[in-house]
Amino acid sequence: QRFSSSSTFKASALQLTRTRNPVPKPEDPNKCIFGKQFTDHMLTIEWSVKRGWGIPQIKPLENLSLHPATSVFHYATELFEGMKAYRTVDNRIAMFRPMENMERMVRTAKRACLPEFDKEELVKCLAELVRVEHEWVPHSTSASLYIRPTMIGTEPSLGVNMSTKALLYCILCPVGPYFETGSFNPISLMADPRYIRAAKGGSGAYKLGSNYGPTIKIQQEALKRGCQQVLWLYGDDHQVTEVGTMNVFVYWINENGEKELATMPLDKGIVLPGVTRSSLMELAREWNEFKVTERIITMADITKALSENRLLELFGAGTACVVCPVDSILYADNKLKIPTMDNGAKVASRFYKELTDIQYGRTPHEWSYTV
Ligand code: PMP
Repeated sequence: QRFSSSSTFKASALQLTRTRNPVPKPEDPNKCIFGKQFTDHMLTIEWSVKRGWGIPQIKPLENLSLHPATSVFHYATELFEGMKAYRTVDNRIAMFRPMENMERMVRTAKRACLPEFDKEELVKCLAELVRVEHEWVPHSTSASLYIRPTMIGTEPSLGVNMSTKALLYCILCPVGPYFETGSFNPISLMADPRYIRAAKGGSGAYKLGSNYGPTIKIQQEALKRGCQQVLWLYGDDHQVTEVGTMNVFVYWINENGEKELATMPLDKGIVLPGVTRSSLMELAREWNEFKVTERIITMADITKALSENRLLELFGAGTACVVCPVDSILYADNKLKIPTMDNGAKVASRFYKELTDIQYGRTPHEWSYTV
């Protein structure tokens, strides 16, 4: 009896099969490269239109066996999430705002015609998986355990149709620090308006795998042109939308002479609603020291602010790095120098400190979810 004929699975029904062959954990978690090493167990939950959600299973990590006609291989019926578990200074294990990721995952599932589920039940299943793998959560306040919930359409048929079968699974990998310890390395960006990541009416606001595959070539081009990441522009006015797989923030003195933190609005559907993005805006609104605005920022706004010495900081924000300062943008063959570090990256550093203090339990906060 693997199915529950229900509109959601239940964490209380979880079945656990432990591995007999655990793999050695990394000796130095601070040296872990993102996404290369996986823990011993995975979570899997099957779904079918006829029988509903199955029983959640935690079992030894294993290969999937799927028919070559399976929907995900042809039409990219895939979605994922990216979140982390941290070992706190008081030796708890905590996730950061996991319900935010669940909300986004269910929104994305709807967009992909993949099944919905009860978000709290998935958080409980993920928490149980992390508990089973607790020794994999690095004993370090610069490393963490990356959590990758994934859902794929598994119907073995070539019709471009809603998949009548799906698999939700989650794998985990230890990750080292994004920045070398003690440094806050700025990155260089390539901004080329010939390329876009997402468009109005498209699917850019959802965490679908199909949004990411086509970006790899542009990222390669950025590297070839001596830049580390892509600054995604949009529209004839070259709106500044995202940095690589991060939301983008500008801290500047705006045209009215006010200090302002600005980021792209979500209403056009071309930006992924980042959990870090909304957390930074909430923190900054609590500080109440400068304006916090969701507004369109164009490359013309950036170059004008630069020429008038009004641009103070520009940074990306996402789960991987929390915040990532930017020091240059290659735009129309001009290398624009961005003075984030010259200005001491004060706002970026303060965000970094406040968020990592919450994540590693140095500051108690309702955003920290103890596993
Ligand atoms: N934009 C894109 C395109 C992303 O893939 C991500 C990573 N999920 C983000 C922004 C940042 O989102 P979050 O803060 O939830 O990690």
